[in-house]
Amino acid sequence: ANCEPVMSASPELLYRRCGASGVKLPAISLGLWHNFGDNRAMVDIRAMLHRALDLGVVHFDLANNYGPPPGSAETRFGDVLATSLRGHRHELFISSKAGYVMWPGPYGNWGSRKSVLASLDQSLKRMRLDHVDLFYSHRPDPETPIEETMSALDTAVRQGKARYVGLSNYTLPQTMAAVTALKQLGTPCLIHQARYSMFERWVEDGLLDYLDQQGIGAIAFSPLAQGVLTDRYLNGLPEGSRALDPDSPFLTPEKVLQRVAKARQLNELALLRGQSLAQMALAWVLRKTTSAIIGASRVTQIEHNLAALARATFSGEELAQIEAILAQ
Ligand code: NDP
Repeated sequence: ANCEPVMSASPELLYRRCGASGVKLPAISLGLWHNFGDNRAMVDIRAMLHRALDLGVVHFDLANNYGPPPGSAETRFGDVLATSLRGHRHELFISSKAGYVMWPGPYGNWGSRKSVLASLDQSLKRMRLDHVDLFYSHRPDPETPIEETMSALDTAVRQGKARYVGLSNYTLPQTMAAVTALKQLGTPCLIHQARYSMFERWVEDGLLDYLDQQGIGAIAFSPLAQGVLTDRYLNGLPEGSRALDPDSPFLTPEKVLQRVAKARQLNELALLRGQSLAQMALAWVLRKTTSAIIGASRVTQIEHNLAALARATFSGEELAQIEAILAQ
């Protein structure tokens, strides 16, 4: 792919250092949770991946279970890597995760060494890679000692199957325990991935400060609240949207309706700033994070969202207006 700089954003805006590490990540990363599985056309998948890379989005976020069916996003991604993106592996920062259910029986889920390392081997096979750049524990396992799950991440690095490790969906106390365990093993935690948007702000209650103190990056998932913080639902529920997709039980019409009144007000504010609601929502998340992982169902959404970087700062008054809308 021809990696031209993103439209109006400078490279300094596009690539940001991940905590105190040597790694830089694009401010906006692309996630393959939805719209990259066997239920989507390969031509669309390929077009989104290529366009993202052309715009400088070099970080692709995957997990064992992305699809549907689970595993198919990694397989499709591997198909593209092996064909039209052949030769570009070194330009990409590829992550995967283990921790949610993948296969039947006691070893296909959660955070034992047994499950986590077997899952990584399967992910590498599906993507046809010898290593991922970043391997996450996808969620904490209440029944496995955190030290055991962290030892699996450490082993992945020592085996050469991952360059860095990360945590996802760990609370502040769980993160502290995991970071300490990783430090003792000699494999530092690169990054923490959590849900973060104007509507979901639990990470502001101490986690982001802790990550900052520790020199660990923060990467936000669902920064657009799965599309509610865009113009997708401002005038109803469009055909083909995630809220109406039976394969996507996590965003329902009820959940959209609960939030759309606020989204409409936020949209007015965004228009006054000269950007769209999606662009404002991304800029807002990027004030406190290394990168925001967007999802997309078409190329134009990726292009549109990247343009958020052209207007990424807020006045105190704008921030106060956002708080006032969110507090209603
Ligand atoms: P977003 O909040 O960015 O939602 C993406 C959806 O919003 C798109 O599929 C699209 O919906 C809509 N959208 C995006 N841009 C626009 C636009 N410009 N205009 C209109 N609509 C738009 O993120 P996701 O919820 O998809 O999550 C992103 C990634 O985060 C995942 O792919 C995954 O990598 C990661 N993630 C990690 C989790 C974890 O536990 N660690 C959990 C969840 C996500 P539509 O499809 O309707 O067009």
